[in-house]
Amino acid sequence: MTVKSKILKALILGAPASGKGTISSRIVKKYNVEHVSSGDKLRDHIEKQTNLGKEVKQYLNEGKLVPDDVMIKFMIAELNKVQNKTWLLDGFPRTVNQAEALWRVQPVDVVLNLVVPFEVIIDRIPSGRVYNIGFNTPKVEGKDDVTGEDLVQRPDDKPEAVKKRLEIYDSVTRPVIEFYKKKGILQQFEGKTSDEIWPKVTAYLDPILLNK
Ligand code: ATP
Repeated sequence: MTVKSKILKALILGAPASGKGTISSRIVKKYNVEHVSSGDKLRDHIEKQTNLGKEVKQYLNEGKLVPDDVMIKFMIAELNKVQNKTWLLDGFPRTVNQAEALWRVQPVDVVLNLVVPFEVIIDRIPSGRVYNIGFNTPKVEGKDDVTGEDLVQRPDDKPEAVKKRLEIYDSVTRPVIEFYKKKGILQQFEGKTSDEIWPKVTAYLDPILLNK
C-alpha cells in the first residue's frame, strides 16, 4: 500500500452557469484541496475596499474581464501562497495571455473542463429568463415571472452582465480550452446537470487524489 502524497495542481473550466461553482465546491469538500477562486478573491477585495478592490469593482459589476496585467500579477502572488498544497484553481486563467503567463511560472497537471449544452446554460440564466427593460419586462419588478425568485442576486448577475460574460466566454475563454488541449492535459466532463457530471469527475479524481 502506498500513500499518495503527490501535490496536484488542477484547474477547472466551464461556461457561466455551467455548474462550475457546484462542482468546484464538491471537489474541495471531498478531496480537501485548496480552492483558489479568482472571483471570490476579487469580491473579497471589493468588500474590504482595498486598492485592488476599488480598481476592479467596475469590471465585475459590468461582467467585463479585469485587465490581464492586473489579474496575472494578483493571481500569481496568490498561488505563491499555496505552493506546497494541492489546489483547484477556479476562474483563472480566462484568456490565453493569462494561461501562458501561468504556464511559465506554474504548469498545471490537469484541466477539468465542464461541458454543458448551450441550451441548458441559457435556460439557467438568471432563473431561465433574460429580461431587458422595455423589451421583456418582468410582470413584477425584480422578480422572475415563473419562479417569483429575485432576479438580481449579485451585481454581475444582471442580465446584461450575464450576457456580456457569455460573450466573453465564447470569444476569449474558449481559446483557453484549446491551449490546454494542445498541452494534452484537458479532461472533459459532459452532462446537463451537476449530478450527471459529478460521478464522472470523481471517477477521474479518486484514483489520483484518494489514498488507496
Ligand atoms: P462565470 O459564471 O462568468 O464564470 P463567475 O461568477 O463564476 O462567473 P467569477 O469567476 O466569480 O465568475 O468572476 C467574477 C468576475 O470577476 C468576472 O466576471 C470578472 O469581472 C472578474 N474575474 C474573475 N477572474 C478573472 C480573470 N481570470 N480575468 C479577468 N477577470 C476576472
